[in-house]
Parts: sequence; C-alpha cells; structure tokens
Amino acid sequence: MPFIAFLLGTVFGSFANAVAWRLHTRQTLGGRSKCPKCEKTIGPQDLVPILSWAVLRGRCRMCQGRISWHYPFSEIMGGILFVGTALHFQNGSEMNEIFFFQIFFSVLILICVLMDLRWKELPLELMLFGTGATLLVQLALAGRTGTEMISAVFVSLLFFGSQWIVSKRKWIGEGDLFFSAMLTVGLGTWQLALVSIYVTYLVGAVLILLLLFIKRVKRGDKVPFAPFLATGYFMTLWYGEPILTFVRALLS
Ligand SMILES: [Zn+2]
Repeated sequence: MPFIAFLLGTVFGSFANAVAWRLHTRQTLGGRSKCPKCEKTIGPQDLVPILSWAVLRGRCRMCQGRISWHYPFSEIMGGILFVGTALHFQNGSEMNEIFFFQIFFSVLILICVLMDLRWKELPLELMLFGTGATLLVQLALAGRTGTEMISAVFVSLLFFGSQWIVSKRKWIGEGDLFFSAMLTVGLGTWQLALVSIYVTYLVGAVLILLLLFIKRVKRGDKVPFAPFLATGYFMTLWYGEPILTFVRALLS
C-alpha cells in the first residue's frame, strides 16, 4: 500500500512541477510537455517519473540539454506526500472525501513550494482558491467551527504578520503571509497553528545552519520560506495531535 501510494504520488508530483512551470511562464495548462531548451514535444517513454530522468542521466533525449533536478525532486516529494497522507488516514478513518481533499491540497501546496524554490514567487490566485476550498471543507465536512478557523488564522497572522512589519518585508513577504494563512486554515485550530509555527522554525533553523555550514547560502541571502512553512504544516498535520497530547500531559 505505501509503495502504490508512492508511485501514484510521483505522477502527481510530476503534474505539480508542470503546473508550476506553466504558472510561472503564464502558459495554459493544456498541450503536451515540451523540453524547455529545444522545445520539442517529449515522448511518453520519457515522461515516467524519476526513472526517465535517471535513465537519461538528467539530459534531454533530443538536444542533450540538462534537465533540472527539480523534475525528480518534485516527483519524489509527491511520492512522500502521498505516503504520508495515506499513513495518516489509515488509523480509524477510511478513504473519504477528506482524504481525497488532503491529496488535492497537498498537490496545491507542492506547486507553491516548487515555485518559491525556483523563482521565489508564490501564485496568489492559486493560494486564494486553495484557502477558500479548504475553508469550505473544514466547515462543511470536517466539523470545524467558524470560531476555530478565525482564532487559528489570527494566531498565525499575529505571529508572521508582526515579523513582516518588524523586518519591513525582509524576512517574510506578502506571499508567505497568504501561504501561511492557507496552511493554517488547513490545520484548523490555533493549537495546531502554534505547533506548526514551532516546527517551521525548528526545521528552518537546523537547515539554515546546515546550509551556512556547507556554504550553500551566505549570510544575508534571501532563503525561500514556503518550503519551511509547508514542512511545518505536514509535520503538524500528521503528528500534531500526539504532540499536543504530550504537551497537555506536561501541563496538567
Ligand atoms: Zn531538448
């Protein structure tokens, strides 16, 4: 089961990468995939996630131009997200509407993360659509209340919004604010929002120290923030309840 979920996920990861590219270059979503270098249409044998890239050793079959590591990366990320979602929903609940929504939402998040990683831009329209759709699912299907949603978004906006103001948009941009608000709506309570803020900064601090150490980034470089926010979101979605149970036990 996890293996099938991974394979399915790589296909959706490949799709997310294609959507990210087309949103960035403002192309329509229809039409066949083309090599960005020689613009020739890519045959079906070269569209198999991860494998095609590995077999062709990261080069285009026609023009031998380099194919970015973003392709296998997005496919692997899609696989990991699907396995995580499948495992998370195995306990108790069956494959219901919320499960399929989580799959859809994780693809949407992956598109945003890929765009931020590659071009440091976030798709505003897609995020507004994602926020609206998630809000609807939370209220109509997941049994969340309006008060829960408002307090969750309030905590997130208070935290990230104050950094946006204090740093004069240097640490956090408007795109990150929209993105964090969308993820918070996906989590659904202010307690989970706090857990995700904590995880975001923990993962962020460790990774940035590592990147400084291996000299992949320099002090003062602008580092995309959406990948960290997304990591915080998925860790909290999958493990947030056990973390909260642990914290409550400590406090009582
Ligand atoms: Zn080519």
